[in-house]
Amino acid sequence: MLSLQQQETRKTRAYLENNLQLMATRLGELQGRVLQLDSLGERVSGLAGVKREKVPEAAKPGQGGPYLAAPLSSDELQQEIDRLAGDVEQHNDDLAFLEFKLLEKRVKDRLLPTTLPVKDAVLGSPFGPRIDPIAGLRARHDGLDFAAEAGAPVVAAADGVVLVAATHPEFGNMIDIDHGDGLISRYAHLSRLDVAPGMLVRRGDNIGAVGSTGRSTGPHLHFEVRMLGVAQNPAHFLKQGDEYALVRRR
Ligand SMILES: [Zn+2]
Repeated sequence: MLSLQQQETRKTRAYLENNLQLMATRLGELQGRVLQLDSLGERVSGLAGVKREKVPEAAKPGQGGPYLAAPLSSDELQQEIDRLAGDVEQHNDDLAFLEFKLLEKRVKDRLLPTTLPVKDAVLGSPFGPRIDPIAGLRARHDGLDFAAEAGAPVVAAADGVVLVAATHPEFGNMIDIDHGDGLISRYAHLSRLDVAPGMLVRRGDNIGAVGSTGRSTGPHLHFEVRMLGVAQNPAHFLKQGDEYALVRRR
């Protein structure tokens, strides 16, 4: 017969072991959840087109084999909890980085000139070489022309800061908007300037009106996009917006 004390000790030990097993099971579940979070983060970054900087796989040697339940000691359990806490911390850092990258991408998208600068227009001269409409000679066309009625509103193609709002001998009344990172959009031959240098404008904000000032043969908007001073084809930017496809072609 066991003494009463021995019986009590056995009961307590059984209780503790049982508890330890429950905690180990719970820990296993949590480890599974962390792995799910990992693949979720992977999918989200894939959708967002953001590359995650991952710890090289070489750091983790391949593992596997049959699952054999082994009772954990409380020390081992503690170690596993610490390891899991480290994993969670790592994931937190990864996701914070992903959030930053997404935010950065959103800001960039907002600052790309993709909004049609004049609605209800007909696409005139495209970007590239053309016969100059006044000189009749072969010349380079650094922008896109939108034929529209004089007085039609002209809007900012993206968020930015007004760099220039002035009269130019050739561009007539013109506006340059700085979108950051060396990207500038230009609006020329305007009949009216509704903004002043230094003003902050939002995508779609009214900035002026279509006109025929400067070196122009009739009311139209001459629209340019420049990267570090080099003229880019504005169509490449506008095509990323959803209005450009609807513009009438001559
Ligand atoms: Zn033009």
